Amino acid sequence: MTAVAELMDYAEVVERFDPVLGLEVHVELSTNTKMFCGCLNEFGGEPNTKTCPTCLGLPGSLPVVNGKAVEGAIRIGLALNCEIAEWCRFARKNYFYPDMPKNFQTSQYDEPIAFNGYLDVTLDDGEVVRVEIERAHMEEDTGKSLHIGGATGRIHGAEHSLLDYNRAGVPLIEIVTKPIEGTGARAPEVARAYVTALRDLLRALDVSDVRMDQGSLRCDANVSLMAKDATEFGTRTETKNVNSLRSVERAVRYEMTRQAAILAGGGSIRQETRHFQEADGTTSSGRAKETAEDYRYFPEPDLVPIAPSREWVEELRATLPEMPGERRKRIQDEWKLSDEALRDLLNVGAVDLVAATVESGATPDEARGWWVNTLAQEANAREVELADLPITPAQVAEVIALVSSGELTNKLAKEVAQGVLAGEGSPREVVEKRGLKVVSDDSALLTAVDEALAAQPDIADKIRGGKVAAAGAIVGAVMKATKGQADAKRVRELVIERVGS
Ligand code: ADP
Ligand code: MG
Ligand code: ZN
Repeated sequence: MTAVAELMDYAEVVERFDPVLGLEVHVELSTNTKMFCGCLNEFGGEPNTKTCPTCLGLPGSLPVVNGKAVEGAIRIGLALNCEIAEWCRFARKNYFYPDMPKNFQTSQYDEPIAFNGYLDVTLDDGEVVRVEIERAHMEEDTGKSLHIGGATGRIHGAEHSLLDYNRAGVPLIEIVTKPIEGTGARAPEVARAYVTALRDLLRALDVSDVRMDQGSLRCDANVSLMAKDATEFGTRTETKNVNSLRSVERAVRYEMTRQAAILAGGGSIRQETRHFQEADGTTSSGRAKETAEDYRYFPEPDLVPIAPSREWVEELRATLPEMPGERRKRIQDEWKLSDEALRDLLNVGAVDLVAATVESGATPDEARGWWVNTLAQEANAREVELADLPITPAQVAEVIALVSSGELTNKLAKEVAQGVLAGEGSPREVVEKRGLKVVSDDSALLTAVDEALAAQPDIADKIRGGKVAAAGAIVGAVMKATKGQADAKRVRELVIERVGS
């Protein structure tokens, strides 16, 4: 067992050192088929059912590039403000690993399809940090190993391993930043914000389902520290496959405190890969880092070079959607949101849902109220993403419309939403089934008002004597009698009318 690492207090770390970050993000493209063969590109399924001689690396099989994947790569490059190569090739990255049946990964090396870009990232307080992109290149995913019999699921201690090649050959784009300097104490936050912004961008491009939990978006975080007076970068570690946004932030922060303690004690950092432990937020040593030479890269002889015409690139540029950053600015303007309101909206991940609800006829304020408050609480309680709640923006708009038309009170509307969430049907169906309509028929209300007044003659006297506030007790009694299905404002009017006459 390795000893527990010494850590330096975070405040001291950032006082004595400047962190440098490098983020490598792998994104699986959601093309119909794999990168170099016609096998289905789908998550999961019976092991080894989505394979063929090409993605299994059998002798004599030949790869063919998936045009849709190249298109996706170019669109990602353009969205990241990159230059697009006029001509580039694939390269073989040679190493042995059981989940990689060809014994090499078809990747790109010194000729990436996209390079020299940037992504502007907004931090929680609104500060914008520009993260420069070194390159975005095409490659293929590996298969998956399942290690059986050990306590950790890792190969160490396992009795045997199973291999599933369904994922082998799935199109991947690797997006690599230039070293990110000057973020100081905010480095962990910048790392998280960058991956968040990248995820949102990829989602807007509709090129991937960007599920960190399913591995379709994966982040490796490189971290090094420089003493305040240093002129060169320190040695970096690369923490692999950090699989949630929160973990990205935690992993960077942990590495900073771990490396600082070593450096301050006169030690040196080993260039290595590390694994992030979700449970306690620590990282542990992986393998010593190979250098590029170790991989014996060479141009892939079985694939033609990729030479996207400038016309095609411009056509693809024209398909780019509004970028999330611009969209946020526009929405803030159009919906007249304070920075704080916008942040709340972003934090609960409700922008698209509110926009869709507005599209279905609700006002931005009403739609926001429902998603950011009522429904966000519901999602929290159920521990699901807001978007995964079993209610659609159109249904939320319908509930809102029922309130506006006076058919439902706010309280009843919440009940209707509960019914929809419980799978009882559309808002109207829930209203019918649960009998939730507001009693808007004045004669029915008047009967209830008269009964309440008769039951509490002293209060009726008070109101008559000018104490209008006392009407509240009667209104309350009527609401109770109608099981909350009356419009309280109307009831109040009727009470005053009745007592006055
Ligand atoms: P590797 O092949 O080791 O994964 P890459 O070039 O793909 O290397 O990615 C390395 C990442 O680390 C890049 O984002 C790069 O900008 C960044 N990087 C390079 N040197 C340092 C350093 N000293 N400290 C932190 N990050 C670094
Ligand atoms: Mg890399
Ligand atoms: Zn195949």
